[in-house]
Amino acid sequence: MSRYKNELGRSSPLKGVLPGFRARDGQLRLADQIGGTIDHGGVLVAEAATGIGKSLAYLVPAAMSGRCVVISTATKALQGQLLTEDLPLARQATGMEITAAVVKGRSNYVCRVQRAFAHQRVPEEYAGQLSRMEEWLVRTRVGDRDELPFVPSDDVWRELSVGPDRCRGARCAERDSCYAEAARERATGCQIVLVNHALYLADLALRVARGGEPVILPEHDVLIVDEAHAFEQVAAESLGARVSGPALARFARDIDDACASATKLAPTAELALLQVHGDRLFSALPEGRRVRLDETRLKLLPLDAADAMRAALRTIAEQIREYSDETEALARQAERQALALEAILSPDHEETVVWSDRDQRGGVELRAAPTAVGPLLREHLWDKLHASVLVSATLADGDGLSGICRRLGTEAAATHIEDSPFDVAEQARLYVPKDIIGGGKADPDLVADRIGDLIEAAGGRALVLFPSLYRLQRTHELLRERLTMPVLCQGEAARGVLLERFREDETSVLFASMTFWQGVDIPGRSLELVVLESLPFAVPNDPMIAAKSERAERDGGSGFRDVQLPHAALLLKQGFGRLLRSETDRGVVAVLDARLVTRGYGTFLRESLPSLPVIDSVDEVRSFLARAVS
Ligand code: SF4
Repeated sequence: MSRYKNELGRSSPLKGVLPGFRARDGQLRLADQIGGTIDHGGVLVAEAATGIGKSLAYLVPAAMSGRCVVISTATKALQGQLLTEDLPLARQATGMEITAAVVKGRSNYVCRVQRAFAHQRVPEEYAGQLSRMEEWLVRTRVGDRDELPFVPSDDVWRELSVGPDRCRGARCAERDSCYAEAARERATGCQIVLVNHALYLADLALRVARGGEPVILPEHDVLIVDEAHAFEQVAAESLGARVSGPALARFARDIDDACASATKLAPTAELALLQVHGDRLFSALPEGRRVRLDETRLKLLPLDAADAMRAALRTIAEQIREYSDETEALARQAERQALALEAILSPDHEETVVWSDRDQRGGVELRAAPTAVGPLLREHLWDKLHASVLVSATLADGDGLSGICRRLGTEAAATHIEDSPFDVAEQARLYVPKDIIGGGKADPDLVADRIGDLIEAAGGRALVLFPSLYRLQRTHELLRERLTMPVLCQGEAARGVLLERFREDETSVLFASMTFWQGVDIPGRSLELVVLESLPFAVPNDPMIAAKSERAERDGGSGFRDVQLPHAALLLKQGFGRLLRSETDRGVVAVLDARLVTRGYGTFLRESLPSLPVIDSVDEVRSFLARAVS
């Protein structure tokens, strides 16, 4: 008998609140597992398929534990859903008040110190935006960017906010009325604190650097990581190092301004050296996005320029430290940048991957990240907390949860899997054509033609996912004349707008790339066909994938089996998860790659998916969907 039967079982108070409410055995089992972990301590890794109701399965035990529980999510969408939909339900279910707050990074709030300089610093072209923002600032009580009635340009927002590096901290004269500090205050004492993975891991990195004292988040010893499939990647990025050209230019300007405010001379010579050597280093970086810098490539860079930059940064820190609180914060930032340069350019190549990246505006940056975050997370997180729960709809692959546990450093965790509560074999089909072999070798005309056939068989209602925007556009061009239903393409409008249009027009089709593989929730008749244009293998020369593959092979494994396959299995499962969002949904997942049924590894990938009948003709797709309608 579940200990949460009164809250989530047959006689739950939700019965009178949620139309169609019925107790779900899977949800009760998961809640029991989570409640036991929170009470007795330890780590639980749980996969709960769509439809289990995992949010309430952790919110109810978390609230009833009487502890402060931090819940970390990958996406803003889930955070919003927890706050506005699931927490009110948890309150109804438990009859408890359940205090909750969202904590965001400092740069999400207006900084009162920066605001005073905004008129001097914001470029003239943004004057209109700035005056709209001033009107809002008169009214706002929270100073949160998300509350603005318009989306501000990054160039404007950057001048009104600060990250932890530039905040004056305890010595700030505006601290008593600071919006970011007030938001943190509101979270203190709450039972539930909601954050995103990036902030949680940034806080962890700061806590580690400062010997464990709380920095951003209130003290807590229970963590629930929802959307845990994304935690590894965010951890690698947060626990790594980064030095960027545009950030260094901003940093130099901030020093000039801060010295002027303190009526001191700026370290002009060192700032000039920083710029000259920075230009030398950054201009020597390769063209293109995410280019790996292995040992050989790193040696070709002008490392003397990096040495000169580090020396200049340290001299700047020495010179400005005593001028004012603001320059003291900037001195700390200079020291951190010098350390980051060292970490990036003298890495332990077995443990660290280094790459360069360029943004759309030509800004260039150097990055380094650990190739395995598991040991770091185990030492600094799982071993330190009383209880940790990692949960997601997509964690297990053909080998169950062992792969994700190894990657996240939770090998000793208890594990739990709740399969889909839907009758998947009845509600869905997997279409795999025999005549299309993927891997980038398939004839684009044949692939586009088959996508057209499938979309017509479904009467629209299709989400078509591509591995790249190039392939999306190529297929769209080929089908432009043929398809008679509205076709929406990623990039035409904001993601939320596209999804809304797709949801509203039941016959429409949405072409999208990897970024739509997660977080799309379209129950009902608007979505009856999900097409994956190919098996979602990662680009093999992506720096992180290449470095992890090398590491797997050094450890006696295989890059393909240990890195590529689990990666593809989870993405495949996420793509599949777009289809069945409720027990009345019906549909077909089409994977246009015969390797899913012809190759040995196809079995591993299929075993990552719920078991369902495989079909290989468009006629079967048509008749299955027609049956679903009747
Ligand atoms: S404490 Fe001061 S410097 Fe830091 S964000 Fe608040 S107002 Fe800005």
